Amino acid sequence: MISGAGPTGLVLALDLARRGIAVRVLERSPRPQTGSRGKTLHARSVEIMADLGVGPRIAEIGTASQKYRKYFNGEHVSDSAPFGESTLFLTQTGVEEALREQLATHGVHVEFGAELTGFTQAEDRVVVELADGRTAETGYLIGCDGGRSTVRRLLGLAFVGESAQEQSMICGDVEVDGLDREYWHQWVDDEGAFMLCPFRGTSAWQVQTAPEFTEDGSMIEPSLESFQRRFERHARVRGLELRNATWLSSWRINVRMVEQMRVGRVLLAGDSAHVHPIAGGLGMNTGIQDAWNLGWKLALVASGRANGTLLDTYQEERLPIAAWTLNLSTERLDAAMAKLHVPGTGLDTVAVTEVSGLGINYRWSSLAGQSLGVLQAGDRAPTGSAAGPLFTVLGFGESGRAGQREVADAHPDLVRAGAGAEGFGIEGDAVALIRPDHHIAVISTDADPVLKYLAELFN
Ligand SMILES: Cc1cc2nc3c(=O)[nH]c(=O)nc-3n(C[C@H](O)[C@H](O)[C@H](O)COP(=O)(O)OP(=O)(O)OC[C@H]3O[C@@H](n4cnc5c(N)ncnc54)[C@H](O)[C@@H]3O)c2cc1C
Repeated sequence: MISGAGPTGLVLALDLARRGIAVRVLERSPRPQTGSRGKTLHARSVEIMADLGVGPRIAEIGTASQKYRKYFNGEHVSDSAPFGESTLFLTQTGVEEALREQLATHGVHVEFGAELTGFTQAEDRVVVELADGRTAETGYLIGCDGGRSTVRRLLGLAFVGESAQEQSMICGDVEVDGLDREYWHQWVDDEGAFMLCPFRGTSAWQVQTAPEFTEDGSMIEPSLESFQRRFERHARVRGLELRNATWLSSWRINVRMVEQMRVGRVLLAGDSAHVHPIAGGLGMNTGIQDAWNLGWKLALVASGRANGTLLDTYQEERLPIAAWTLNLSTERLDAAMAKLHVPGTGLDTVAVTEVSGLGINYRWSSLAGQSLGVLQAGDRAPTGSAAGPLFTVLGFGESGRAGQREVADAHPDLVRAGAGAEGFGIEGDAVALIRPDHHIAVISTDADPVLKYLAELFN
């Protein structure tokens, strides 16, 4: 049972459903969320979406090489496209819709208006309580219920870190005519900034700007009128009217994470486990990648094929990534703030290669076996060498290919023999086992270490 139908919960649900695991998704909101919110899918998440079968839909709604148009004191100073081809700009709403549609093909439908309010854990199950008085039993409960997670609170887990009261932002979705929809418009001056980002296939623009404050220093909640005032002040454009605010929100910087992501049969993923500045656009991406790490492990354990200790490797692998993400996004925010008032620079400083997620590895993990060639166990396998929900076994050289067949034959419903094997830098014979999340498990000269690895993993 998954609590929360944001990107994290939906990716997890889809990954479980395509493996034939019975899954329910509870969502407190009575209907799908409408705000654009997370607007970037970086390369690693795009790969994951493709493997989950939503690649074409995501490509249809996303903009690659999104162009930025930068203004200083109202004057156009430069254009750029700092993220290039591999990052897609889109709405989180669109991502969620694509995932829900794909989930429906497995017969799973999000239960809107279903709020989790409590649960109790027994040795073999979790009993979940809903706001409407219903209860439901499940083998595992995963809290994907966002930064203010009820599941985290009920587990009594501390959310360690800080909230920067002084750094806040208001955001929303509006419509406006008279601006070129090819560009994310970024107006900066010595007093602040106003940003308008368009989304393909919609008439909406996402607003991001600083809030207004009352004389006694309290933040004024965002409204169409406050957006208009900010727009006129920073963009210095007259005669353009913002209208139809379909989403209004405020946001302040929180840098926090849990110290554990699993308590017995209850686990946390996504914003419920870590929150950080939006610089780098990593929140939705990190949640998707948490779910991707957890899905195959949970499926093996829930179906009785692997021992429950496999679930401990989820936090072993993802907690250090959460900590790394908190640091990277804080560092990118500082860099962007330092450059914000340098005409023509600003948000370009956020686009560093690390945000792609392609370099994330689990070399330290207890699941990382031995390795050969240029890649280490725990590294992400080269693009195209693994696909689908099973383990992939690859063979290099004649005896490596014989070893590959031996491994695939020994575990026909858990391991598939793969074909492509570029980028491993292996000379001579070898057998490589790739995990279902496409990280390298083990590479050896013959099949025995691979068979041993699998025997230890599977019951
Ligand atoms: C303006 C803005 C820009 C952003 N830009 C980016 C970006 O460019 N890239 C990026 O990666 N991220 C970005 N983010 C962050 C991103 O939106 C979040 O990190 C992301 O939503 C986290 O996904 P999640 O599924 O973990 O949680 P959420 O999306 O918060 O989903 C949690 C869900 O759980 C539900 N829920 C809560 N409590 C309960 C309960 N008790 N029972 C049942 N359901 C419950 C909620 O209704 C919600 O639908 C941005 C955010 C904002 C606000």
